[in-house]
Amino acid sequence: MARKTIRNIPRERTAMPTRAPAERIRNFDEVAIGYSVDDALVEAERCLMCPQQPCVAGCPVGIDIPGFIQHICDKDFRGAYEVLADSTLLPAICGRVCPQEDQCEGVCVVGDHLEPVAIGRLERFVGDRAIAEGWNRPAVIEANRFKVAIIGAGPAGIACAADLAKAGCEVTIYEALHRPGGVLTYGIPEFRLPNPVIDAEFRAVIELGVKVECNILVGRLFTIRQLRDEMGFDAVFVGTGAGYPSFMGIPGEALNGVLSANEFLTRCNLMQAGDFPHHDTPVDLGRKVVVIGAGITAMDAMRVSLRLGAAEVHCLYRRSRAECPARAEELEHAEEEGILFNWLAAPVEILGDSDHKVRGLRCLRMELGEPDDSGRRRPVPVAGSEFEFECDTVIYAIGTNANPIIGQTSNLELNRRGYIVADGDQRTSLAGVFAGGDIVTGAATVILAMGAGRRAAQAIRAYLGLRSGAELAVSDPGRSRAFGIDRRQRRHSRVRLAAS
Ligand code: FAD
Ligand code: SF4
Repeated sequence: MARKTIRNIPRERTAMPTRAPAERIRNFDEVAIGYSVDDALVEAERCLMCPQQPCVAGCPVGIDIPGFIQHICDKDFRGAYEVLADSTLLPAICGRVCPQEDQCEGVCVVGDHLEPVAIGRLERFVGDRAIAEGWNRPAVIEANRFKVAIIGAGPAGIACAADLAKAGCEVTIYEALHRPGGVLTYGIPEFRLPNPVIDAEFRAVIELGVKVECNILVGRLFTIRQLRDEMGFDAVFVGTGAGYPSFMGIPGEALNGVLSANEFLTRCNLMQAGDFPHHDTPVDLGRKVVVIGAGITAMDAMRVSLRLGAAEVHCLYRRSRAECPARAEELEHAEEEGILFNWLAAPVEILGDSDHKVRGLRCLRMELGEPDDSGRRRPVPVAGSEFEFECDTVIYAIGTNANPIIGQTSNLELNRRGYIVADGDQRTSLAGVFAGGDIVTGAATVILAMGAGRRAAQAIRAYLGLRSGAELAVSDPGRSRAFGIDRRQRRHSRVRLAAS
């Protein structure tokens, strides 16, 4: 067979089949339908299998991307899953929500000439197939005597828990909300990430023997110190995220009808607010909704508002479309669905009626000045440009802060913005306590949180005196895989494969 080059691969990236905008705004069904087998085979052929593999270095968890794509080319989808499972527990989730354009696809060699290989869509294809076929990687591992507590069941906590369970530790996750998943469950709406996909991939973690205790707010029911001194845990990982909302501090924020995007999305995703009165949590949006901000959270809040029946949904953003921080795909989907974008505008006051309900916003027009610290051009108010904007609900999506409770109830060193200080191995200022994900970095991404959770698991193994991955790699040269399992991921001496 002729060697693949940029000249003989399919030139066009295989489009993702999606549901039509008019149909999808009526419900929460998934917008992107996913590749068929034929789509996946065509797209996989676009990978040049280049020896330098920059895409692997661009992936925060180092997935062997040409390796799994080669299996797709060979129609060996189970083999593709096995390669993915070496590095990630959540391929169907990450294939859907990772910002691949800034990671693996951003450095794909094909992207120098054509559109890059659709690595995320291929990952999702394999992840979905694994769920449909019931493939998993259960390994029963020799237990050790160590107990580890994980605080927060988001991607960071889940990834850390899975690696430690594989290493033989007894792992308990404590989660404040009534369902695990963190932002995956309570933030990202079902039309982007359906709950059955989350449940299916999390089941694999539970099957490793991880215990998940929901409705437990650590710092209120018990502290990190009690986990260590009274509850017998040898190490603790903190993955509590950055879900504390930001407001602007302008007049009118206490009016009825002002919400944070996190509160709004949590009420809708986790408490089925859209299905009131069949569920207990109402959300009364009124006719016209304004969302302040234009990041991915803002896109989600606007698209959910539309699906809950708001007649008009507006985005108010102080910069222009070119600076919009959302993923291009999410912005395009929002535009297709009829969200109305008001670029270069910022609110200065929320206006209320005599019942203390929102009736509108007072805003200023902006223009772009010199770049600020983020490199984006700074918005500058235009003198005399004030105008009023009528609306019934205002939703803030201008970023979030560290969840504060753990910081307030422990002696952990925090930075000036309240995030936990951790080193490159996710060690905190307290011996035996590790932290990672958004609670360390500030709001970031699912895959970065997972990567931090896995690094922390590695450091916890070292702290507990369990052999680290690096030692195994040295002591077992040339035999890094056994039964399709990467030995560097485990410290166990004996692996028994359960039926899969
Ligand atoms: P989280 O996911 O926030 O999980 C933390 C968990 O800890 C939560 O379940 C919380 O309830 C729990 N917790 C907090 N305090 C306590 C306590 N004291 N005791 C017990 N439990 C506690 N990233 C992407 O890559 N792609 C996307 O498309 C994307 N979309 C997003 C959409 C929205 C609306 C939001 C808000 C974020 C989005 N992100 C996206 C960002 C991404 O979801 C986060 O970066 C990621 O979830 C961080 O993972 P984490 O484990 O650090 O924290
Ligand atoms: Fe394939 Fe692109 Fe990775 Fe090269 S960089 S191996 S073309 S996915």
